[in-house]
Amino acid sequence: MAQIFAYIVHKDGVADDTALELLTAAKKIDPAASVTAIVTGHGAELDAVANEMAKAYNEVWKFDNPALAYPNAELVRPLLVKAVPSGSIVLIAHDTFGMDLAPGLSIKMDAAFVPDVADIEGVDGETLKLVRQEFGGQVSTHVTADISGGAVLTPRGGVFAATESGVSGAVVDKSGEIGELSAKRRFIEVVAAEVGDVDITKEDVLVSIGRGIEDQDNIEIAEELAKAMGAVVSCSRPIVDAKWLEKSRQVGTSGQTVKPKVYLACGISGSFQHLGGIKGNPFIVAINKNPKAPIFQVADVGIVADILEFMPELTEAISEAN
Ligand SMILES: Cc1cc2nc3c(=O)[nH]c(=O)nc-3n(C[C@H](O)[C@H](O)[C@H](O)COP(=O)(O)OP(=O)(O)OC[C@H]3O[C@@H](n4cnc5c(N)ncnc54)[C@H](O)[C@@H]3O)c2cc1C
Repeated sequence: MAQIFAYIVHKDGVADDTALELLTAAKKIDPAASVTAIVTGHGAELDAVANEMAKAYNEVWKFDNPALAYPNAELVRPLLVKAVPSGSIVLIAHDTFGMDLAPGLSIKMDAAFVPDVADIEGVDGETLKLVRQEFGGQVSTHVTADISGGAVLTPRGGVFAATESGVSGAVVDKSGEIGELSAKRRFIEVVAAEVGDVDITKEDVLVSIGRGIEDQDNIEIAEELAKAMGAVVSCSRPIVDAKWLEKSRQVGTSGQTVKPKVYLACGISGSFQHLGGIKGNPFIVAINKNPKAPIFQVADVGIVADILEFMPELTEAISEAN
């Protein structure tokens, strides 16, 4: 069986939620695999992530260089091509950075590429069987990949449960093998999103609305529910695009990253761009009238209902209970 690697995304010295989900995905490919985590970055923050990963992965390859302090796919890609043995399987989270890094990496490795993996069904010889999402998660498709020459897979965040820590892996410092780093695209600065009237990044409970809310006037229904729950209203991008709520309320890769304890997703389909903004493993309750909506794959509780009927009933029930 091919060697399996997981590229770990991290920020401020903390690994992304997807870090331990990739380990679960790897074990679905080969339950007996000794999986290697790859962490790139610089300094004490990188060390912290490498040490954290060594509690779950058998081995952690650390690449430390000031040029890697901000993740630039143009720098990381050649580094991985050089470091990873040909024929390997590389797992990268399906987020904005992963979508920047992974396709070009698969071409350079001359390996199969399967993006937005929603499930892994197993290996039959040199054929990997997977379920992936297409058309923004509207359909799931069963696919096979010829992994005889290796593979680059991007598992969707939140669909694989995180593997708990429980090993004592080794951190191997591979910084000496980085070689020359050069990129045409340079990182300049991070511009933090503006905080609006409410800072959704600091809230414990979010009532989040999507296109299923149907009309601006219906936002009041969500606000009443949020008030009853002691929560605030956040939203998906179409709500901001329609100018129904401020940009500061948008959850997702091009909006805010939130870390609530409870996330109520009302009429939200569950695109990877939206889910990419939900961190910290909150308890997700999804209400959607389509039983096949992708949001149900990541929800702890799924309710198939019309939100315009369900939300007022829930508000009433909570108010009575209060
Ligand atoms: C570069 C880029 C960045 C992006 N960044 C973000 C981002 O940061 N955040 C973000 O959210 N999106 C982002 N998107 C958009 C993303 O791809 C999706 O289009 C978006 O998340 C879909 O929002 P939605 O789930 O509200 O709408 P839809 O996908 O249209 O889903 C609406 C859902 O509501 C359900 N529904 C409809 N009516 C009802 C009802 N009455 N009761 C119950 N359920 C109902 C439907 O079944 C459906 O599942 C980005 C896209 C791109 C290309």
